[in-house]
Amino acid sequence: MTALRDNLVEVRDLTKHFPITQGIIVQRQIGAVKAVDGISFDVKRGETLGLVGETGCGKSTTARLLVRLLHPTSGTVLFDGEDISSRKRATLKSLHRQAQMVFQDPYSSLNPRKTVGSIIAEPYAIHGLYKGEGERKQRVQELMDRVGLNPEHYNRYPHEFSGGQRQRIGVARAIALEPKLLIADEPVSALDVSIQAQVLNLLKRLQREMGLTLVFISHDLSVVRHMCDRVAVMYLGKIVELASSDALYTYPRHPYTGALLSAVPVPDPTGGKRERAILTGDVPSPANPPRACRFHTRCLKAQELCRTEEPLIENKGGDTEAACHFPLTEEEVSEQLPGRSSARADASAGYSSSSTYSDSRASSSPLLLQSLISRKSER
Ligand code: SF4
Repeated sequence: MTALRDNLVEVRDLTKHFPITQGIIVQRQIGAVKAVDGISFDVKRGETLGLVGETGCGKSTTARLLVRLLHPTSGTVLFDGEDISSRKRATLKSLHRQAQMVFQDPYSSLNPRKTVGSIIAEPYAIHGLYKGEGERKQRVQELMDRVGLNPEHYNRYPHEFSGGQRQRIGVARAIALEPKLLIADEPVSALDVSIQAQVLNLLKRLQREMGLTLVFISHDLSVVRHMCDRVAVMYLGKIVELASSDALYTYPRHPYTGALLSAVPVPDPTGGKRERAILTGDVPSPANPPRACRFHTRCLKAQELCRTEEPLIENKGGDTEAACHFPLTEEEVSEQLPGRSSARADASAGYSSSSTYSDSRASSSPLLLQSLISRKSER
């Protein structure tokens, strides 16, 4: 019997460049949008890995590369030890049985002309499972019940459901084949806060029950904090910081991570004065990213070295890796994020493989959503 690998997914030097072309009859390439530009990371079996960053940083492109909805320009993706980056499209069916996605917009990802029953049964039709009509219907209704939908609504259409219920339909379709990996691409950003909590709790429960490995993509740091075991911060197609969730939120080392966290509202304004690191300017174009450190045009700590030499991602203490010549010091973190750096000692204890939500995390929750996540039931 072969031993299970610790890592379900291993990504090395992955790039995805979209060509920019000019001309009507004869098209020639005049450049490329470097959506993902040489990233490496692992996804451990059973964990939740968060991908965060501003719009356009390459999070969703990375997700699509992981399940081969996009073909990489270069680099490798090992899924359960098997290289899927060079596989031909026709051979991807077995991968899609093991890796599924939940999309951001629950309405546009569902065919409005099909009933919920046939939408959730789509994976069975594609993979030739549960061929008998009665058997398939029973299986779909079990799935509907599992994700908190009324099985009697089997013959309803997507427009008859609320936003949260439509996202549950998307989740039911994604888990129909019992995948090993579930990639949730901004699964709650289109939903109300109270509904967000229900869908997040649903994902956590399914992860526990099914032993799923989860890649969770979001630009909402407060949500990621409570969903993820580890977090990768992306900026302009690169991973700039990768750390356990606790370490990242208590002692961020990359100035970009510090600025993102500094922008998160604090529920207790009397909790201490903080020097907010406010990001100025827009994200530069990924078609023409700045030389050396891509963040130097917006970084408050930028120096000459940052403009001439690209910082490599490397260990900065504890389990934190960051790509920065002049990482944040404890004093700077204390100024920008008062109260958080005091938890550093706990954070440096290292990565916890626990994939369940803990009450201790809820106690430091800055937002209403986080308390909802911990207390509300999914239904
Ligand atoms: Fe800022 Fe320099 Fe670090 Fe880049 S390398 S994040 S410019 S301090």
